[in-house]
Amino acid sequence: MLSAIESICVYCGSRHGDSPAYADAARALGKAVAESGWRLVYGGARIGLMGELADAALAAGGEVLGVIPRSLIGSEVGHGGLTELQVVDDMHARKLAMSDAADAFVALPGGLGTLEELFEMMTWQQIGWHAKPIAILDVEEYYAPLVGLLRQAVAAGFLGDHQLQRLIVESQADALATRLKAMPDGF
Ligand code: AMP
Repeated sequence: MLSAIESICVYCGSRHGDSPAYADAARALGKAVAESGWRLVYGGARIGLMGELADAALAAGGEVLGVIPRSLIGSEVGHGGLTELQVVDDMHARKLAMSDAADAFVALPGGLGTLEELFEMMTWQQIGWHAKPIAILDVEEYYAPLVGLLRQAVAAGFLGDHQLQRLIVESQADALATRLKAMPDGF
């Protein structure tokens, strides 16, 4: 049976990065999520790639749930135009609410916050706390060093090859959406 994805959680930078390709990819992913009929779940900010992603999903007629800690509403500029903005007490509550609300996870380029969230979902998948697909949208090979490090972890005996094989890596938003649609349920 193919996966029945209803909501996708996307992690991405609260900055734009230094290549216009990053914002282009965030917009393309937001549009692909909406056009796939999926609800977008993200960190609820209006800044950086987060804002680009959410605005593109909304413009394409998609539903968007943002989850933001109360203390970050000011600095990350809580997005006022979402379908729903859930305000939570702290970062732990944010991450839990985002992961609970989603059936799959995608990381766009981003900084420490993005990497931390991606790795948390990968570690939870590894120990069987969830069996939801995890994907990287590898814009301009931003994530090539990270994938290289994971290969090194396999070669050094710290990570099972099967675990690395579960990570979906695509460079185009549409191709990534197509891969996710083809995932078997509870893969
Ligand atoms: P960044 O990738 O560092 O630009 O951060 C992207 C998003 O992750 C922002 O909304 C940050 O607030 C959030 N973030 C920052 N630190 C953490 C953390 N420890 N866990 C989860 N998210 C975080």
